Amino acid sequence: MRVLVTGGAGFIGSHLVDQLVGRGDDVCVLDNLSTGRIDNIRHHLGRPRFALVNETILNADVVNRLVEASDIVFHLAAAVGVPYIMEDPLGAISTNVEGTEIVLRAAFRFWRKIVLASSSEVYGKSTKAPLAEDDDRVLGPTTVTRWSYSSSKAIDEHFAYAYAARGLPVVILRFFNVYGPRIHENGYGTVVARFIQQALNGRPLTVHGDGRQTRCFCYVEDTVAGILLAAQTPEAEGHVFNIGSAVEISIHDLARLIKRLTGSSSEIEFVPYRDYYGLHFEDTPRRVPDLRKARRVLGYEPRVPLEQGLERTIEWCRRHNFLLPPSRRAVQVTGS
Ligand code: UDP
Repeated sequence: MRVLVTGGAGFIGSHLVDQLVGRGDDVCVLDNLSTGRIDNIRHHLGRPRFALVNETILNADVVNRLVEASDIVFHLAAAVGVPYIMEDPLGAISTNVEGTEIVLRAAFRFWRKIVLASSSEVYGKSTKAPLAEDDDRVLGPTTVTRWSYSSSKAIDEHFAYAYAARGLPVVILRFFNVYGPRIHENGYGTVVARFIQQALNGRPLTVHGDGRQTRCFCYVEDTVAGILLAAQTPEAEGHVFNIGSAVEISIHDLARLIKRLTGSSSEIEFVPYRDYYGLHFEDTPRRVPDLRKARRVLGYEPRVPLEQGLERTIEWCRRHNFLLPPSRRAVQVTGS
């Protein structure tokens, strides 16, 4: 197989690339190394069946050329993570909407199967648990920047359905809170990175709000297993699937767990949302995936327990010298 992975130098993408290269595929990575990193794929550089194209997905000519030369496309390139979206709303919308449109259009033009990465953020602040793929989305007003990410991913999904209606083989995956080795120390995409880094540096673990909000964290290996299953299951085409773990934990408990697993003497500090994100921020209180559809159609089953996954992640963070990033500024929210 000739495989194109957009965002292949990123956290999830690079783990997918490892699997694809390992099974003998010809892999081309398209990544502009914004949050992706050369270190994530350095071990593949120079191999005859691997190529890296350092370019943005907004470059339609390059995207067209690479899609045409592939049998299948995994589209993972995106502006990800709430902090990233808050810092550069315009860039995030442009990458996530225009970029995906370019990639989908190319897949349609050259009739290539495409697996599209979406996000549990699509559900917004819905408190329904568990969340099934056809459940309602619940969003705050457009003056709250956070929801632009949810909306951009939802537009991507609508685009994908529209192309699917015209026959394009496309599968959409909604990832739920992924963590594992190669998480970004700036915490882009996951609180797990922030807490591990704070714990390893003896800094307070900053729990937002009262810490009773919950998430279900999925070890990256399990996420990648879901991606590969989606690609190889013809019945999945034209459908959307939740990919994650259904084990729920509060953010306060996560902080306690990471403190224990790192052996850190750090305090746990409760920080008001407004100190971090500005005045008009809204969080999602609860987010649990309903995995029945993924189980039934894909045969998907997450396998790595949270504690084991965290241990592996912490070990990786220790080996990769998780130094403190520059101090974060509170991000001003449009309308505040
Ligand atoms: N969070 C936190 N401290 C941090 C960073 C995040 O308490 O330093 C909280 C955040 O407010 C949210 C949860 O952890 O309630 C998960 O945040 P993350 O950015 O990992 O994912 P998402 O909100 O997209 O689920």
